[in-house]
Amino acid sequence: NAPLSETDADLLAAINGEMGRQQHHIELIASENIVSRAVLEAQGSVLTNKYAEGYPGRRYYGGCEWVDVAENLAIERAKKLFNAGFANVQPHSGAQANGSVMMALVKPGDTILGMSLAAGGHLTHGAPPAQSGKWFNAVQYGVRRDDHQVDFEEVERLAKEHKPRLIIAGGSAYPRTLDFQKFRAIADEVGAYLMVDMAHFAGLVAGGAHPNPVEVADVVTTTTHKTLRGPRGGMVLTNREDIAKKINSAVFPGLQGGPLMHVIAAKAVAFGEALKPEFKQYAADVVANAQVLAGKLKEAGCDIVAGGTDTHLMLVDLRPKGLTGRDADASLGRANMTCNKNGVPFDPESPTVTSGIRLGTPAGTTRGFGAAEFEKIGDYIVEVLDGLVENREDNSAVEAAVREKVVALCEEFPIY
Ligand code: PLP
Repeated sequence: NAPLSETDADLLAAINGEMGRQQHHIELIASENIVSRAVLEAQGSVLTNKYAEGYPGRRYYGGCEWVDVAENLAIERAKKLFNAGFANVQPHSGAQANGSVMMALVKPGDTILGMSLAAGGHLTHGAPPAQSGKWFNAVQYGVRRDDHQVDFEEVERLAKEHKPRLIIAGGSAYPRTLDFQKFRAIADEVGAYLMVDMAHFAGLVAGGAHPNPVEVADVVTTTTHKTLRGPRGGMVLTNREDIAKKINSAVFPGLQGGPLMHVIAAKAVAFGEALKPEFKQYAADVVANAQVLAGKLKEAGCDIVAGGTDTHLMLVDLRPKGLTGRDADASLGRANMTCNKNGVPFDPESPTVTSGIRLGTPAGTTRGFGAAEFEKIGDYIVEVLDGLVENREDNSAVEAAVREKVVALCEEFPIY
């Protein structure tokens, strides 16, 4: 039983390379974070060896007494964190969590209503290339042209016209707080279930920096690895007993086989961390830092979609600088700042080019960056973007100069 360092140099090199990348790059991808050592330890534990189909106390395999303890800890902590009556912590991912709600509440061919990808929604909310778009009659709402916020008149009109069985609120690139009560009223008007996918902002809810959709929606899904700062995975929450039963059957045996017990253990650790008072400060800082960064970029002549942010993320519209998301993303990457190109609402560019970039503060805030550091990061980003405006063919001199400053900042705030 030799360690990796003795058995697999190739794979170890990949892990060490990735560690170096995370250490020396500023992570601005809004859906990423940096988990604690304790989360890593739980996920790297012997719990990976165990089959545990079923639920705590009701397994199809023997020897589940200890994984039952781990799963019950994850469930009880999740319920406490989100003030929920029920939690299923087994979905392997956010997509699986959303798939389980579809399996529980709608049938193929039924109508669902979700936010379009182009307006900031997620693939699993009814986008044409996804299962949700292929197996259901997926109707999509967008945002208003003037303020880029959810167009509730459109949501209501589409709901009345198409009578969806399920309405989905939430997205992957929506920077403002969603008005859950307005969605609730529309769902009630047409007799639809309301699902909120809080994958992006779950950590802000946990830390009290965002309204809690569990109190309003019929069912809430989330990933556990974004602002919530746990291992990669998904979860479903509800206060409705009738829905809870259906969700359990949909996750297993409906959609999945054996749960990933090592990941569930790591979810328990992360939820325990999120229950601590420090996490409240973390969530508040994530939002404050996002506002600092958005303010800096606005000052420097970029447009911020929806005028700003209430959350951990912002969408930067680069058209005032005449740049595309593709070029900006690549140049920032060479300067050791990682983000993703992203379409802006009503984007004239294709999804592979785009007019924007999406930036988020969860990972940077975890490594200790505060307002002063995000001011600097804003300056570094602007330096690269303005460099790119000047030197479209080759921005390498600016990239190298900024990279040096980025590495120095990262070294001041090491991870692990
Ligand atoms: N829901 C939303 C809103 C997301 O942003 C994402 C991931 O980006 C998902 C669901 C899917 O999560 P996963 O990548 O774990 O399947």
